[in-house]
Amino acid sequence: MTETMPNWLKKRADLSPNREALIFEGNTYTFKQVFEKAKSYAAKLGAISLNRGETAAVLFSNQAESVFILYALQMAGIRTVILNNRLTSEELSWQLGDSEAKVLLYETRFNDKVSEINYDIRNISSDEWSQLQEKTVTILEEYNLDEVTTIMYTSGTTGNPKGVMQTYGNHWWSANASALNLGLHEHDKWLCTVPIFHISGYSILMRSQIYGMPVILHSSFEEKKVIEDIRKYQVTVMSVVSTMLRRVLAELGSEKLPVSFRCMLLGGGPAPLPLLEACLDKDIPVFQTYGMTETSSQFATLSPEYSIQRLGSAGKALFPNQIRIVDSDEQDIPQGAEGEILVKGPNVTIGYLNRPDVTADKIRDKWLHTGDIGYLDSEGFLYVLDRRSDLIISGGENIYPAEIEGVLLSHPGVSDAGVIGASDEKWQQVPVAFIVKSDPDISEDALLALCEEKLAKYKLPKKFYFVEDLPRNAAKKLLRRKLREWLEAEGDAIGH
Ligand code: ATP
Ligand code: MG
Repeated sequence: MTETMPNWLKKRADLSPNREALIFEGNTYTFKQVFEKAKSYAAKLGAISLNRGETAAVLFSNQAESVFILYALQMAGIRTVILNNRLTSEELSWQLGDSEAKVLLYETRFNDKVSEINYDIRNISSDEWSQLQEKTVTILEEYNLDEVTTIMYTSGTTGNPKGVMQTYGNHWWSANASALNLGLHEHDKWLCTVPIFHISGYSILMRSQIYGMPVILHSSFEEKKVIEDIRKYQVTVMSVVSTMLRRVLAELGSEKLPVSFRCMLLGGGPAPLPLLEACLDKDIPVFQTYGMTETSSQFATLSPEYSIQRLGSAGKALFPNQIRIVDSDEQDIPQGAEGEILVKGPNVTIGYLNRPDVTADKIRDKWLHTGDIGYLDSEGFLYVLDRRSDLIISGGENIYPAEIEGVLLSHPGVSDAGVIGASDEKWQQVPVAFIVKSDPDISEDALLALCEEKLAKYKLPKKFYFVEDLPRNAAKKLLRRKLREWLEAEGDAIGH
């Protein structure tokens, strides 16, 4: 049986019309205003003959208008491919072709990028959009929870991105699972500086509609503005990845965040232990979380009462969710042992777009094989170690690059660090480190001394490469596959 629900935004505008929904660059919109905007935008969809069940792609940045269009598409029942605006024209062409979108709606600022797209698709810029005539309004009264509403490509950290199909039900359950875990406080306000084209940002918009909670949207991440707005608007929750948190911490200096700030939701990648410790010192309530595009946002989160004893853990699976750890034969392994993380729950994708083979390979009996390695401790707390594809095996020992990177990043003279395995005759593989200095005088000896203090001998980087920047994608994730390419081309690319 297919479950249906009333249209979220319409319902919200009915229940709490005058509550703040969105704050962007000093402008505040109530739920009623957001609904009216989205409704009139949905009416424009008729002018470009986009109909229910068809696919549109969008290329936007974090702006109020982008939110209205996303809501309009959702309310109209148009499957929306949400494109990453930092991709090159070539990458965009590939995703547009892959998704078979009928129309591309884009923000005029991306004109140049769009003009170079090598895929035959109807384009409508935001300038053109604003000129469109409104036709009859055809918004959905009900959402069918099994229906796909968004398609989001994975970050492509490990290879070619895959289009993840997310249903209304996936988003609904994700928002509910988060509320059951973090709680919902009457004065909650969520600061969104992460891209709304990623699940981290988009899921904040879904929670806003479902909870009736204001979102303070920033067009990009700027630590000064973050601290300013947390104070100005009494923000209670914010989503961050670790590089953002480090910058907020540095900007804070000796000051603290207001006590009303109750949750720094840290996800997207491994959380360096020293960073978590620094946050503890500053009373920043960090909730470490594990999730992915395929789980429509958080899947496991560490509850606050455990944040001290379980430092570094991503907590337990959220209420509707389950986790298993298995070996390469897909057998469950004992607690404490490391293996692949499998996840199951109503927020897990129904599959990858046009990839029945990958879907069948990754989702078996409703269990998604994440490709991440982790373990559950004796009380069932999840520790995510790293991606299976980035694991370094040295003389039979498993080494997780993220652990070494965490140690290197804790040095005040290091602004970024990346670790990969290099082939070695004796040990098969040995770790090597790429370092971006913030202190020009920092020496290899100092870094090695720090590693010797914190890490077992077999984990010590055998070589340090000092570079100007590390390859990170739009989600600020380290692209270790690029580092491996650098290493192969050693001499040409490294040390510039
Ligand atoms: P692709 O699948 O294309 O390689 P991606 O996996 O980086 O890209 P996302 O869905 O944005 O795309 O990221 C999810 C991944 O991020 C997880 O599978 C995991 O590897 C990593 N991750 C998320 N949270 C954590 C965490 N708490 N600790 C360690 N890794 C994490
Ligand atoms: Mg992935």
